Parts: sequence; C-alpha cells; structure tokens
Amino acid sequence: KREQLSPEKLAENLCQADDVDAQMSLMVQLFEFSESERRLRDLLVTLFQEVFLEFFPGSAILPFGSSVNGFDVCGCDLDLFLDLEKTQSFQASAKAPNMTQEGASPEVDTRSEDSILSDIDLASATVPEVLELIATVLRKCVPGVHNVQAVLNARRPVVKFCHKESGLRGDISINNRLALCNTRFLQLCTEADERVRPLVYVVRYWAKQQALAGNPFGGGPLLNNYALTLLVLFFLQTRSPPVLPTVSQLKELSNEEEQTTVDGWDCSFPKDSAQLNPSANKENLCSLLAEFFHVFEDYDFAGCVISLREGQQLPLSSFLSSEADNKLKLGPFNLQDPFELSHNVSANVNEKTALRFQRCCRDAAKYCRSLQYQRKSTKGKIWGLVRLFQPGNPEALATDGFIVNLPLTLAAVPPQSCELLNQAGDMRQLWFQKICTGIAFTLRDVLRCSCLETAQGFEEEQAATRSQQQEEQIEAKMKLLSAGSKRPLENDEGEGVLSPSAKKSRIDTFLPTGESMTWDCSTLHRVWLGRRRVRRQLRGTDLDLTEKAGSLELEAKVSELISKQEGETTPTEPLLQFTVCARVTEAASGKQGTCVRLSFTPVPEQAAAFQEFFHFLQGFLPRMVEQYLVTRA
Ligand code: ATP
Ligand code: MG
Repeated sequence: KREQLSPEKLAENLCQADDVDAQMSLMVQLFEFSESERRLRDLLVTLFQEVFLEFFPGSAILPFGSSVNGFDVCGCDLDLFLDLEKTQSFQASAKAPNMTQEGASPEVDTRSEDSILSDIDLASATVPEVLELIATVLRKCVPGVHNVQAVLNARRPVVKFCHKESGLRGDISINNRLALCNTRFLQLCTEADERVRPLVYVVRYWAKQQALAGNPFGGGPLLNNYALTLLVLFFLQTRSPPVLPTVSQLKELSNEEEQTTVDGWDCSFPKDSAQLNPSANKENLCSLLAEFFHVFEDYDFAGCVISLREGQQLPLSSFLSSEADNKLKLGPFNLQDPFELSHNVSANVNEKTALRFQRCCRDAAKYCRSLQYQRKSTKGKIWGLVRLFQPGNPEALATDGFIVNLPLTLAAVPPQSCELLNQAGDMRQLWFQKICTGIAFTLRDVLRCSCLETAQGFEEEQAATRSQQQEEQIEAKMKLLSAGSKRPLENDEGEGVLSPSAKKSRIDTFLPTGESMTWDCSTLHRVWLGRRRVRRQLRGTDLDLTEKAGSLELEAKVSELISKQEGETTPTEPLLQFTVCARVTEAASGKQGTCVRLSFTPVPEQAAAFQEFFHFLQGFLPRMVEQYLVTRA
C-alpha cells in the first residue's frame, strides 16, 4: 500500500533543504511516482488492454491525466480512456448485410453468440449503456479490481474502479479524446522547461492546503488540478521574457503531420520538445513563485478571460457576441481551455472561491516578501515553503465554506408537535431539539456516520470550538453517566472509528437546552457516491421500498448497501472527520422567524476532500430532516 506523505513529515523534510529553490525541487521528488508505482500503473494498463481487446476487438486503453502528464503525485487516480472507434467500425462492417467479412479484421467475429458485442450496437448505444457494459466486463473479468461503479450523472460520465491490492482508484471514460490532447500538451510544457514541474507541484499543494483546489472527487466550487495547472502555465507564458510559448506559437512550430483537430478543435502542437526554443527567462523558482502570487493577488478573474492560446487576458466583450465557437460560460473565474475554446475550465468556481483565491494569493505574496520565506532559519524555525503550506484558518473556512441553512422555520413544525411544545412551555427550544434529533438521526442512522454529541451552548461563539469549560462539562456528564445505569452509545462500527475527543465523550443523547449543538462525526464509507444506482437496485428487488421512495428507510438501506459493498476493505481510519454545529439563527430575508444553520468543520487537512460529501449533504440533509419532522418527531 502506498503511504501518503503527512504534512508534518513534509515540513520536516523541507526545512532541511538549503534554499527555496531546493525546497521546490524536493517537492517534486517527494510527491512523484516511485519506480514501483509507475510499474504498477503500467501493469494495470496492460491488463485492462488485454481484457478489453477480448471483448471489444480493436479497442485501445489509453492513460491520460496525472498518471502521464508530468504532474504525477503518489496515489493520484488512474484516468483511462477506452477508445472504441475501431471496434465500432469493425462492428459496423460485420453487421452490414451485403458485405463479406473482408473489411473487418479476420479474427474479429462480432456476431458470434458469446461475443459481448452481439448485445450492443456501438453506433446507436448511449454512453450509459456502453459504460454499464464496461462496468460488467470489469466486474466479471478483471481480477483484483473491485468497487466497480458506473457514474453516469457526472459532467464526464465514467466507470470507477479500485485496484484491491494497492488501493489505487481509477476511472474509465469513453468520450474524452480532447483530454488525451491536453494531457500531451501539459507533458510538453514540463519537457519545455524544468521549472514547470516544481512550480506546479508547489502551487497545487498550496491550493490544496488552503482548500482552494484539489478535491480528489471532482465537482464542487473549487478549482480542479487541471485548471490550476493551466493557471501556472499561463503565468509562465506571460513572464518577460516568457518561460513558455503560447498555444498559438506552438501551432506555428508544429509540422504538417502534427496539425490535427479533435472534435472540431485545433490541437496542433509539436510532439517533441526539441522543436521548441529554450526560454531566455532566467528567473529562479523562489522568485517565480512569489511573482505568481503577486500577479494573481489583484487579478480581475471575473472581468476578463484568461487565454493560454494567446498567452494573454482577453476582454469579456469578445465572448459576449453570439459567435458559436466563442460561447464560453462566463463566471467569477474565467479560464479558457487551450483547445476546446468554448470551455471555461473553471466554470464551476463560485464567487466565494474566486475571492478566497485572491485573498490567499495576497497573503502568500505578502509572506513571500518576508525573510522567513527567503532564508533558511538558523534557529530551527519553519521557513520557506513550510509556512506557506500551513492551512488557512479552519474556522474561517467553516464560516464561508461549509454552511447549510435548514429551511425549517419555526412555523414549519407540524401542528401535533406544536401542542407538545406548548405544553413544555419553551416552544423555540423544543423546536430546536426536534431539529437536532432529526440531524443526528440523518447522520447516524441514515448515513451511518459515527456521530457524537459533544457540546451545546447558548452563545454563538461557544459552538464551533469548545472551550475548556465545555470540555469539563462533558467530562463531568461522562462521569455521571458511567456511574449511573445508562450505557453509553455503542457504535456498531467499533471503537476504531472514533476520534480521541469523541471517545472521551461517548454520550448518546444530550438534548440541547440552548441555541447551539455540536457533534463530532466521522464516516468510514463513501455513502454519498452512487446512491442513485443503489436506489434503483433496491427498488427493483424490494416492493415495499418502492412505496417508500425517498423515505428515511430507503435512504438508510442505500447507505447500508454502499457500506457493505465497500466493506471488503473496511478502513481502520475514518475516511472523513468533521464537526457539525447547529445554531439557531434568524432566517434569511424573505422567510419569517428563526431557522437553523449548520456549519461543518472538517479536520483541516481534509477540507478539500470534504467538499464532495458536503455538496451531497447540502441537498440531502434538509430533505431528510424535514421527513423526520413530518413522520417521526
Ligand atoms: P489529479 O488526478 O491528480 O487531480 P489530473 O490532471 O489527473 O490530476 P483529473 O481531474 O483526474 O486531474 O482529470 C484528468 C484529466 O482530464 C486532466 O489531466 C485533463 O486532461 C482532463 N480534465 C480534467 N478536468 C478538466 C476540465 N475541467 N476541462 C478539460 N479537461 C479536463
Ligand atoms: Mg487524475
């Protein structure tokens, strides 16, 4: 199994380097694939190729993305493209009624009864149909691969898989030829100048630590690694003199053979970096990094379009006209793909992230002007990149990052519980209690997270970080409980999943008596992935569940199945650890009364990884809590 480098180990290593340039080069050495990791990937690709050739004659499996683009990071996913173009033409010629087999390859018999291709017509099949077929082939015929799942509702539908022995995760896609081309482009850039790799590794890691980018599951409002890499390349195109040529210049340098279009987009650039002129720029890595932050600290990302093709920013006006190939989705962060010119690679980035990106660049630029950045500490203090990598304030992240407002105002509580509330006197408090039980129920019983109530309070600021006093209160309650007959919560997932602080306070039900409530949570399974498919499976097998579509029972079953499917390799470490704090707040304008606001604080190093789960929760949690209130409260 691969070991990921911990931030502490990284810091230790970096502090020993001589200067920032050495630190930056060291980053590449510490993160890039080891020889054995590269070999493993090559072997897997060969294995896939053999299996797919059997089922899809003439097909080719081609790796792209970070496994081959020069920005490999130990443990990154394995992106694969299954090229079925030849298979499709074989199939077409074999099916043509009046044709002999001459056109097709002699060993290809796509009509034979046991050929998988007799079940499907590649020319007319939909992407989901083909992907389901690929998933079946993987499940049945590729040894050592598990957790195979067709993810069909993503922007780029894929079949996901996991290699059991190494834990390596990967994707297979079929309609992604442009990605092969941009992969080769990134690779060419790394070959063109040796400063490209260290700079990209450092910016990627910095952005990940600041929860600006690097979500391993994709999606969400953060920059992805591809976008971030393009931003660095753009920066290098705009140095004076430039470190890298523009994509237009690359086209000029390409020979006739290299002139190609893919899906209608010009993808011409030289195959070999030897065709490029070495850069006249002599800036060192240390100052390039500082300049990167400086350039983007005040950059008007919303007010222009960054073009790597031209190596300059383009005015928005040229994209507002109705010309077809300029239909770029404009937003707070506009970064045009160098080949697919109508594609804004950061169209998913929201305003908050764009602003936070600027703010983080500003902080970084400021730090880079200090001696602490530029010079190695003689007193054993952290210096250079190390401080740059310290995550931003998690509290700030929670307040502008991970918030869900439950649209359940006081008025929305069902009448029968209102009567109860009235009897008890304090309506608002009981209302909050019920919502809290709904939240805990959803997390614990529907989503199978381990979830322990750890604090409650009246004051806003008490909630997110527990004070010493609260810790003592919890401690005291623990003692009371263990002295009495009440058994602390037994978590069916075992002790191992609980964080130390959660272990300390294994108390099941504190009802909130104040205006806030906090839980320490962790999850072992990716319960947010592939729910739709599992739901479909369940509905097919269980009539009773069909009637309860969308119910708490069905959703709990879905999570249970997902956990079981993943269960073969139950991790001993939780996948994600986070704190949830619910607070009573005034409802947003337009809604009457009070509402409950939930803020999520992942452990800092997981902030980026937490994104995808959070996006799922944003839609899921309010629905489930409402269900809970209507049917169970
Ligand atoms: P990592 O997996 O380490 O995050 P990566 O470069 O492999 O880095 P992925 O998100 O796995 O990033 O994407 C794989 C490849 O798909 C990218 O290298 C790029 O070629 C292509 N790609 C990813 N996102 C986009 C996008 N928004 N627009 C165009 N192509 C993209
Ligand atoms: Mg990848």
